[in-house]
Amino acid sequence: MIVKDYFLPESLDEAVTLLAERGPDLLVMAGGTIAMMRMNEGHLLPDQVMGLRRVGLDAITINGKLSIGATTTLSTLANNESVPMLSQAARSAASWSLRNMATVGGNLFARNPYGDVATALLALNADLRVINRNGERVLPLADFFAANRQLEPGELLADILVPPPTGQTVYHKFGRRAYNTPAVVTIAAHITRDGDSVTAASIALNGVAATPVRAIPAEKMLVGQPLNGETITAAAQAAAETVDPPSDAVASGWYRQRMVRVILERVLTQIMEQEQ
Ligand SMILES: Cc1cc2nc3c(=O)[nH]c(=O)nc-3n(C[C@H](O)[C@H](O)[C@H](O)COP(=O)(O)OP(=O)(O)OC[C@H]3O[C@@H](n4cnc5c(N)ncnc54)[C@H](O)[C@@H]3O)c2cc1C
Repeated sequence: MIVKDYFLPESLDEAVTLLAERGPDLLVMAGGTIAMMRMNEGHLLPDQVMGLRRVGLDAITINGKLSIGATTTLSTLANNESVPMLSQAARSAASWSLRNMATVGGNLFARNPYGDVATALLALNADLRVINRNGERVLPLADFFAANRQLEPGELLADILVPPPTGQTVYHKFGRRAYNTPAVVTIAAHITRDGDSVTAASIALNGVAATPVRAIPAEKMLVGQPLNGETITAAAQAAAETVDPPSDAVASGWYRQRMVRVILERVLTQIMEQEQ
């Protein structure tokens, strides 16, 4: 099959109208770094494609929350220091040239072990603004992942809404190499403390399941406790015990599970040692 129709809508309205008219056979493409690869490999053979580059979703704005347009490139996010954990996550993904094409919205659809920015967004309790021809809805990112990244037919991801972090954040991507490498595991943590006591904990893991996931048992163990060597070891152990990571060309599941414990211990220790 060859692509017979290529659409490049000039507005979001035009894009959702096209999607409603053409239905699920219309392949949505943002930066194309996943879609083009799947087409080249023959896994995806669409005869109609819609590019999102001109719909006007490529800006980052702050109005209480940080709003990241779905087609904002990873390079743009990497250069925006509003939320340091997000710029760091964007810088950790792929190569410089790929980040110039790859979008933040597309990163939420990237298969394990990709999804570095998605992992940081999950730790920050981001929401998604999703739009169709009849209106819009706001969907927690955690629910999007729980539903295995399914949007309703006719829906496009418009923006990602990030509440300002209330506490300390640390992001750590552990790969086989320092740069341009898929993750063995990626961990993003957002911990809020009042004096000695943890009042809120949000820890996201990637590389351990089909989508980024929250380390809920570890989070629950930390809340109400001080951050110290004992609580950190216990939380890291709990996080490792509750995942069953897949094996792939990057790492075995066995190794990934051990690295969850090691990297989470490092992440939480770094937070403990930071000034509040
Ligand atoms: C060589 C290579 C290295 C990589 N390294 C990394 C890495 O280190 N870390 C990492 O996290 N990722 C990595 N990736 C994965 C990936 O390219 C990026 O994460 C990127 O962000 C995907 O965005 P995109 O815009 O190119 O997606 P696209 O290919 O444009 O989109 C893929 C699919 O997502 C859906 N989609 C995208 N945007 C929308 C939207 N707004 N609304 C509805 N549906 C949408 C569509 O179904 C679309 O077909 C790598 C990819 C490659 C090819």
